[in-house]
Amino acid sequence: MEIKYVDAHSHPHFSAFDGDREEIIQKMQQSGVATVAVGTGLKTSKQAVEIAKEYDFIWSCVGQHPTENEEFDENFYKKLLQNKTENKIVAIGECGLDFYRMEERDKERQTKLFEKQIQLAVDAGLPLMLHIRSAQNSTNAHDLAFDILKRYKKEFPKLHLHMHFFTASTETAKKFLELDATFGIPGVVTFAKSVQEMVEFLPTDKILVESDAPYAAPIPKRGQRNEPSFIIYTLEKIAEIKKLDTDLVQMQILKNTAKTFNLNLSD
Ligand SMILES: [Zn+2]
Repeated sequence: MEIKYVDAHSHPHFSAFDGDREEIIQKMQQSGVATVAVGTGLKTSKQAVEIAKEYDFIWSCVGQHPTENEEFDENFYKKLLQNKTENKIVAIGECGLDFYRMEERDKERQTKLFEKQIQLAVDAGLPLMLHIRSAQNSTNAHDLAFDILKRYKKEFPKLHLHMHFFTASTETAKKFLELDATFGIPGVVTFAKSVQEMVEFLPTDKILVESDAPYAAPIPKRGQRNEPSFIIYTLEKIAEIKKLDTDLVQMQILKNTAKTFNLNLSD
């Protein structure tokens, strides 16, 4: 199929799609929507690789979510990465810090888990799929993540940072732009004013779109189970905010996504 859009972050392998996965994927194919299937632990990382191997418009991302409490099995991930090309792994994650769902006293565990995965990404030469979520009315996770990532970027300038589900403030976006990050804009942009303002500020060449399906559907599908093909609504909203032609924004974002994950979209 001709890829027109890449949903930079979704979970089509999650059980929410067990009843109709084939149909959802067929809809993606009809709309020219490709995606990166993201793991959150051992089981879902393995499933992400499996679904990526099955469809030529799906890639995989493997790693452990900060709120996932299982033991981090470094060898499992290293083994998957030994066949990086065959397993179509384009990033490490989703990993990072979450002080929204977990309290800050979980900081030490999360920091260790995060640093192990940063090292994996450095060693594999892959970008990081970052999940950074601060406590309400706080920037605690973003501040700590910035300090950690700044240190790594200094030592490993080639390490690329992709901020998944970025809905933080313009101020926080500015900080991460200093580290040359890219930003995955979710469907939330179709209804949250603060996110719209931040997107207005973001340079268009740093923007990617994502569904995070099955979660967080955009208007007009808000409240429903989300799916990768709904990113078209998100993209249209971004074009509206940027006062640019939708086709132009679509092409720019496609280019940004290919660069971020080193995707070859011509085959
Ligand atoms: Zn996710």
